[in-house]
Amino acid sequence: MNRLAVCAAVTVSAIALSAGQAATADPSPGRHGQAARHHAPAKPASESARLARSVLNAKGITYAKAHVSGTDKASLPQQNLVDVSNERLAKTSPWGHKKGARVALDTRMLNGVLRLGTQYHYKFEISEFVGGRHSRTSKHYAGRAVDVTWINGRHVGKRADHRGLMNACRKLGATLVLGPGDKDHDTHVHCQW
Ligand SMILES: [Zn+2]
Repeated sequence: MNRLAVCAAVTVSAIALSAGQAATADPSPGRHGQAARHHAPAKPASESARLARSVLNAKGITYAKAHVSGTDKASLPQQNLVDVSNERLAKTSPWGHKKGARVALDTRMLNGVLRLGTQYHYKFEISEFVGGRHSRTSKHYAGRAVDVTWINGRHVGKRADHRGLMNACRKLGATLVLGPGDKDHDTHVHCQW
């Protein structure tokens, strides 16, 4: 009986000791946790935010300052990129088929647009991502299409190299590419991923 009691006492003090050691190693878990949160690095940017920022920073890519179909600064293509680079969604125009909606920009599309500049060295102007008016089921409203109006200083339909840019879009994985010769695309190129 006595021996059992001693054994139990030893076991209890061993637990007390290890608990004491743990407490010494980390005297204030609560404060420690707070400090770790305070010094934690900012959440890494999403891929779409990172790509949108790269497109904004790419030399040679410019943006229409107005829509063909109406006036709304919040849905202009450069603003679409600014919103996505800040982890927000891109805004459609109040008069489109998806009026004033907030939609993501597809990373395949953003990567394609970026590489038209950085890999294929085109200087080009983007007229729309999700803003403006398109056909009812257009992939513009899904953040998967871009319209280009100027290529290397020439307007599409006025001796711009639209074929070269259209081919580059296809090589960059675009699944639908339209331009002069296609219905409703005499003055812009549409690349869709
Ligand atoms: Zn289009």
